[in-house]
Amino acid sequence: MERRSFVANKITAALALIGATFILPGCAYFIGSPLRDVWHSELIEPTSDSNAVTVTHMGVTTLGISDGKTFILIDGFFSRPNAWDIFWYNPIKSDSDKVEAGLRMAGTRSTLPQGSDRKWPIPNALFVLHTHYDYAFDIVEIAKQAKAAEPSGKGLKVYGSPSARIILDSGNAQADFIPIRVGQPYKIDDFTITAYEQRHVHERRRGDKISGFIEEPVKQPVRYDAYKQGDVYALKVAYGDKAAFIYGSAGTLLHCPCEHPGEVDTVFMSLGLLGTQQETFFSRYWAEIAKMQPRRVLPIHWDNFTRELATDTLAMRMAPNIADDVPRSFEWLIQSATEMGIEVQVMPLGKPVPLFAKDSETRDEPLRKR
Ligand SMILES: [Zn+2]
Repeated sequence: MERRSFVANKITAALALIGATFILPGCAYFIGSPLRDVWHSELIEPTSDSNAVTVTHMGVTTLGISDGKTFILIDGFFSRPNAWDIFWYNPIKSDSDKVEAGLRMAGTRSTLPQGSDRKWPIPNALFVLHTHYDYAFDIVEIAKQAKAAEPSGKGLKVYGSPSARIILDSGNAQADFIPIRVGQPYKIDDFTITAYEQRHVHERRRGDKISGFIEEPVKQPVRYDAYKQGDVYALKVAYGDKAAFIYGSAGTLLHCPCEHPGEVDTVFMSLGLLGTQQETFFSRYWAEIAKMQPRRVLPIHWDNFTRELATDTLAMRMAPNIADDVPRSFEWLIQSATEMGIEVQVMPLGKPVPLFAKDSETRDEPLRKR
């Protein structure tokens, strides 16, 4: 019985995918509706202000954060293999051109060190929030490109879980790896980054091939389900007396840094698969964010990551309704945030926007010191 329904599901999904690819391009169910269906306000204005610490959103949880001198990359998923290869479990590999272009774009605000003959900035640090493929798929290629650009070794440091380490080692990345210790502040020039343990949006389920930890080598080309979840982290990114908080997955923390409301100015809130959950699940997630009393919330992980990034952000497709319900998540978020006077803003894809001011306060009231 179970076997029959598995086969039936597979056939239905195959037809759905064929429909999505050839017959019904434009259908929200298969490829997602464009962001403009849910977002009717302006996007955050990009900046070239040298006094700003900026963030560049590259889809899903990939963020490039820079103060012009130091470039911190979160996850770095640039290859975005297509839905066909994911569905059929085809072996897939990082696309080095897309990774290079992604690094250029994510690091666009960073200046090259004096005397460097590099053509684009490599990140000083890469934080891997967990090891599902839409987070960790490109970390080996990023580490290899960083190494090639800076053979002296004074390049990229990769921070991650034991599962991230196995990916790097089995891909022969020769990365400078730092195992993340929850609660320990990592000082990276003027940034201080602290990891928090967090729950994944979906807990382990029967038959689930991508939960648990990576124990086997992961050598590309490889099926996407080789990238098992591993430990799941959220990050506090502090700069002087300002701070932002990044939820890589839509789940609550094991210990919330909620004791200093207002300390966190900006929360990056993952919406990935949130729309498949009950409203009570959203309410628990939101209650934790609201306790931090941020000035604003910036949604991330809302896009259909089996498609290329659109340069026109409002035309970018959200995750398809066959897998998620992003419009529902936006509705919950906008309603709850409005009730509390917290602003929701959306970042344009691939363009640096202000995160913090370097010298002056970004808030009306001074932030409480850490
Ligand atoms: Zn995940």
